[in-house]
Amino acid sequence: MSEVTVTVCVECLRACCWQGEFMCDKARTADITEKTIKELSELNLENPEYWKKDIDMKLRLRAERC
Ligand SMILES: [Zn+2]
Repeated sequence: MSEVTVTVCVECLRACCWQGEFMCDKARTADITEKTIKELSELNLENPEYWKKDIDMKLRLRAERC
């Protein structure tokens, strides 16, 4: 599970920003990056529900490709 990464906004490091739920000031121009759950837990910036949502979506896409 630790190798699973969550897509987050580069500027605020929040998945909720990238998902468009709570966009930061730089969201329009900001790039995205991948962070592990461990890294995000240490930052403790948002509700883990957003990471779960991102991971669930990725697992679903992966399953569809197979
Ligand atoms: Zn952001």
